[in-house]
Amino acid sequence: MRPDVTLAELPLRPELVGEKPYGAPQLDVPVRLNVNENPYPPSAQVRAEIGQALAASALNRYPDREALGLRMALAGYLGHGVRPEQVWAANGSNEVMTHLLQAFGGPGRAVLSFTPTYSMYPEYARNTHTRYVTAPRATDYTLDAATVLGAIEEHRPEVVVITTPNNPTGTTTPLAVIEEVLSGTDAIVVVDEAYQEFARHPERTAVTLLGRFGNLVVSRTMSKAFALAGGRVGYLAASPAIVDACRIVRLPYHLSAQTQAVAEVALRHAPELLAKVDELRATRDEMLLRLPQLGVEVIDSDANFCLFGPFADRHDVWQRLLDRGVLVRETGPTGWLRVTAGTPAETQAFYDALTEVLEEIR
Ligand SMILES: *Cc1c(COP(=O)(O)O)cnc(C)c1O
Repeated sequence: MRPDVTLAELPLRPELVGEKPYGAPQLDVPVRLNVNENPYPPSAQVRAEIGQALAASALNRYPDREALGLRMALAGYLGHGVRPEQVWAANGSNEVMTHLLQAFGGPGRAVLSFTPTYSMYPEYARNTHTRYVTAPRATDYTLDAATVLGAIEEHRPEVVVITTPNNPTGTTTPLAVIEEVLSGTDAIVVVDEAYQEFARHPERTAVTLLGRFGNLVVSRTMSKAFALAGGRVGYLAASPAIVDACRIVRLPYHLSAQTQAVAEVALRHAPELLAKVDELRATRDEMLLRLPQLGVEVIDSDANFCLFGPFADRHDVWQRLLDRGVLVRETGPTGWLRVTAGTPAETQAFYDALTEVLEEIR
């Protein structure tokens, strides 16, 4: 074959033809409020400790395949009696979700989610040959047990994903709803709590239900509240049997010794790394008040971002904000945009830019 072969000439899987690599634009602009990162990097002292841990980590030897030290630390962080054998970790919760679908999805099987929701789920499903089915949330984006159980009845999925707080709406699903769903199904129920630490009541977590339901998976990440998006660490808590299923499908040595070392240091400094969460929660609450004052609607959010709009041409608003150095995310329902809670300076730059843009377009 010619060295300049095009993708169209290669035997690509048919369902991948025409697909584009997923991802929000990574643009080098002053104010990046588009991917829900924590804007506060770890302190110099924590970074120095991470540097030491990296220097001491093995490079010539394979890492601990079971990542036991890290799983012990994650179990300790989660609390509620979670044991290390109930925890699984991988390169971001995107790999955790992929492990779950490799184990419980696959050809002839389905995963169900509730839209609008995280735009990565259909990609995990496609990559694992799992059918992706959805049911709509209520008009205010909440989710009740009847909707979930009705959709399970209709689609008969092997895996159900409930995202709470939901991305991109920020909507929390009450624990009572999750409990009722678990009482009514034997499907694997994945509760994606990527933003749980930012919720008004972070203690109302599905982790508290693990002792009662063997089909429950609580998915978490160190990318958001822990300010470790660059480290790529996601994890889940579930019954040991579900963890065993993930251990079967994971690639050997999937989590590098360096990733494990960085995450373990971060967990030792959890209080410091999480210290800015209160501030970001307050920034989110302020956004919920300020955005309506500027003349746009905002969806009530329990996460570190807000969905605002609606705009007749959201791409135009996105571009005009970008022209002023502020990057937000074009995602979610038609006409709406999502903005992440940033530092006070970043958030102010966003308000200033939006004020100008709204004057221009009105
Ligand atoms: C950001 C996010 C994650 C975390 O992804 P990582 O791969 O761990 O960085 C998971 N679920 C949702 C809904 C998210 O928004």
